[in-house]
Amino acid sequence: MSDTERDVAVFLDMVDEDRELLNRGLVLEGLRISRALGGELRALRRSGDEPPVEEVAERAATLLEAEGRPRLVILADTDRGRELAPFLAHRAGTQAVVGVTDILVGQAGGSSEARPCIGITYVKPVCGGQLEQELNYREGSLELVTMARSALISEAERGLPPGDSVGKVAEVCSPGTKPGGRRKARVAVIAPDFRTVDIVHARRLVAAGLGAQDTEVFRQVHELAKLLEASLGATRPMVDDGILPKERMIGRTGKSVTPELYLALGLSGSPHHVAGFQGAGRVLAVNMDQRAPIFGFADAGWVADLRDVLPHLIDLITQHRNAGEPGSERHEST
Ligand SMILES: Cc1cc2nc3c(=O)[nH]c(=O)nc-3n(C[C@H](O)[C@H](O)[C@H](O)COP(=O)(O)OP(=O)(O)OC[C@H]3O[C@@H](n4cnc5c(N)ncnc54)[C@H](O)[C@@H]3O)c2cc1C
Repeated sequence: MSDTERDVAVFLDMVDEDRELLNRGLVLEGLRISRALGGELRALRRSGDEPPVEEVAERAATLLEAEGRPRLVILADTDRGRELAPFLAHRAGTQAVVGVTDILVGQAGGSSEARPCIGITYVKPVCGGQLEQELNYREGSLELVTMARSALISEAERGLPPGDSVGKVAEVCSPGTKPGGRRKARVAVIAPDFRTVDIVHARRLVAAGLGAQDTEVFRQVHELAKLLEASLGATRPMVDDGILPKERMIGRTGKSVTPELYLALGLSGSPHHVAGFQGAGRVLAVNMDQRAPIFGFADAGWVADLRDVLPHLIDLITQHRNAGEPGSERHEST
């Protein structure tokens, strides 16, 4: 093992939002790990114009190699960090682990008795934050991770790094760097398909509860969702009964969704379910029971039987569309 293989390099981005806190968090985290490994902390810094990400990755990899390959490179899990990490990993012949929330450093099997290799475990949330996954790199690989903003900010709030904490700072792109020739261009933005998009990203959601389980009612719920170009979500009993798949379940043990429009059809509004749409914009509800708790969370609600309401609603929207009234244009998604 070379001396630098105990070093940690942090990638300081001088353009990111919250950059001061994030960079301070990176330095403190890098310091903690490099000390535990018995190495030094180094930094790469990008503060200039925006060359293509491949170019930034190329420069960063060259700088890392010039100083001797470190054990670990940490970037902040921002849009820019997430974009750069896989390019840098590819260029450096390794893989990136994105969105880690904790880095655990401890003794593990050693490559030599005199200089044991200290194991590092990366913790990241999976399954919508319900579970944590622990990951290790194969010994000898360059380890490269992006660290969650929340983890860096709480680290930063614990204190200031000592002034001389970073050994070497290398400029990846300094002010005045001329952007190189762009190798990519944005041709078009393709909206996701509302029928297949992960409901976490849906702009409009029609959520069906047990009150919509009847075959004909459920068919109409489908039709309404299609007309509104909305994705379908469900309560847990609808998933338990096999009417919709688990990835469509909303709530505490399901997914958290943030659509602009949330149409709650035949669902009571249990706390377990409501927890999943706290971030929704406009919430509309239909339920035949006027005491249903869902009305307490809705911007507007109708006490009605879905068997009566849905055929009318579908007819009205269809007529409106066919008449080509202003605002009735369909936004085709591919
Ligand atoms: C540990 C745990 C975790 C859970 N996690 C989740 C979760 O993540 N997500 C989740 O959704 N649930 C979850 N649940 C279940 C939750 O507690 C509720 O049982 C569930 O949300 C209720 O689903 P529902 O509203 O479809 O059914 P119900 O509560 O039975 O409500 C059906 C509603 O439909 C109305 N209705 C019936 N027929 C019609 C009609 N024709 N027209 C109009 N309205 C009609 C009724 O008035 C009633 O209000 C969890 C439970 C536990 C114990």
